[in-house]
Amino acid sequence: MSPLPLSLAFAVALALSLLVKFWLSSRQIRHVAVHRGQVPAAFAGSVTLSAHQKAADYTIARARFGLLALAFNAAVLLSWTLLGGLHALNGWVLDASQALPADWQPLGYQLGLVAAFVLIGGLLDLPWELWSTFRIEQAFGFNRMTLGMYFGDMLKGLAVGALLGLPIVALILWLMGTMGPLWWLWAWVAWMGFQLLVMVIYPSVIAPLFNKFEPLADASLKGRVERLMARCGFAAKGLFVMDGSRRSAHGNAYFSGFGPAKRVVFFDTLLAKLNGGEVEAVLAHELGHFKHRHITKRIVLAFVMSLAGLALLGWLAQQPAFYLALGVQPNFDAPNDALALLLFMLAGPVFGFFVTPLASHFSRRDEFQADAYACAQVSGADLSSALLKLHEDNAGTLTPDPIYARFYYSHPPAAERLAALAS
Ligand SMILES: [Zn+2]
Repeated sequence: MSPLPLSLAFAVALALSLLVKFWLSSRQIRHVAVHRGQVPAAFAGSVTLSAHQKAADYTIARARFGLLALAFNAAVLLSWTLLGGLHALNGWVLDASQALPADWQPLGYQLGLVAAFVLIGGLLDLPWELWSTFRIEQAFGFNRMTLGMYFGDMLKGLAVGALLGLPIVALILWLMGTMGPLWWLWAWVAWMGFQLLVMVIYPSVIAPLFNKFEPLADASLKGRVERLMARCGFAAKGLFVMDGSRRSAHGNAYFSGFGPAKRVVFFDTLLAKLNGGEVEAVLAHELGHFKHRHITKRIVLAFVMSLAGLALLGWLAQQPAFYLALGVQPNFDAPNDALALLLFMLAGPVFGFFVTPLASHFSRRDEFQADAYACAQVSGADLSSALLKLHEDNAGTLTPDPIYARFYYSHPPAAERLAALAS
């Protein structure tokens, strides 16, 4: 196989995805700006003009920032691949790994390459994340973090990432190197086990590193929620309140863990804004996702996709053209597995972008189903008012561009969602 057609496919997919992203964001900015002056008729009684305009300004500010980040990330991707950045990094890490004892060289070199790549990527992202948090979120009154907290979180995240990430990457690289042509099947089993392990330990081990969780103290709300869960035949190990307000004013509620270890977690910001009936309605919606098995289906789909991805990587990693097409000269006397993993992670999303509308479509369908389930359990009016409050609180726009929303929105636009609840 010659590398040229692969290079071309990559370049064309990248150019096309950039054009589509740019076009969609420009549409969104224009559409929101045009409708900034007036609250849509359906919301005239429930949303003030100033809240509507704040949502418009926030949406536009984030979309403009997204366009700059888009250009920057495309430049970074091109630099890693076609312009030879990963090739250069690979040369340096390979040289540096000569200092290791011979037994450790192959794995040490490969782990070093992955770690260096991840760290450089993190450093390149850092200014963007700082700007997003301390400029945009700050300007609209959402950010509650100090710089000290931000960097504290970052260090903790790095430590957790290294503690969990390095062993699984080492295991996968070892499987790639020793299991022969069917390594990807073994790697898939290891990856599934790792994902399940993270799901199990996340609520009790990882999440408490970043937030405080306290049992829900409000007795009347607790009674309401427990009666709702009993009605829905749902068992959970506890109801917790998380101090989300330490970092952000955005509110949320979620389930974590699985099987009998499930926990219900409410952000304190959510409880501060919604009344008892509305909290119950939000939880009923989340229970709807469980009843329709949306979460299980998503996990199964992710496992099937990772099997397909690993099988594809198993084949690509054998083709010198795969490396050459993406700007890297494969190694002659060192393993190429880490290079193959990194190139796959860089190029995969460029092609994966084109299934976004499909994923968004199914996600919105799930949201409608969960809403319908909630309406059968609690008052639809409570769910409507909760959704509207959360929407306003997150400064979500009421007037998204229809094509942009079809493409990206994982949740139905507020107007469609409330209309479905009212019908
Ligand atoms: Zn939902």
